[in-house]
Amino acid sequence: MSSAFCKIDDKFVPLYRILWISEVPHFCGEEDCICEGMYEVRLEQDESVWAQSPAERDLVVTAMEQWCKGQDGGLGGDPDEP
Ligand SMILES: [Zn+2]
Repeated sequence: MSSAFCKIDDKFVPLYRILWISEVPHFCGEEDCICEGMYEVRLEQDESVWAQSPAERDLVVTAMEQWCKGQDGGLGGDPDEP
């Protein structure tokens, strides 16, 4: 898992475009809100994508963590190596 992309809501999103990931499900009180209960993943340029479940949200968080480690370790090293 060294990909810089993560699949969210059937879209491959570049991890470096993600600003933040919501911990709690979206709720805004709008009757016709189509995003209620989904987890917002905020992107640059005022865009958002929506994780459909806590599991999908966690996959994004994990992908971000792996990707950040890859950035630190650098130079294509295996994350399992010291
Ligand atoms: Zn809403």
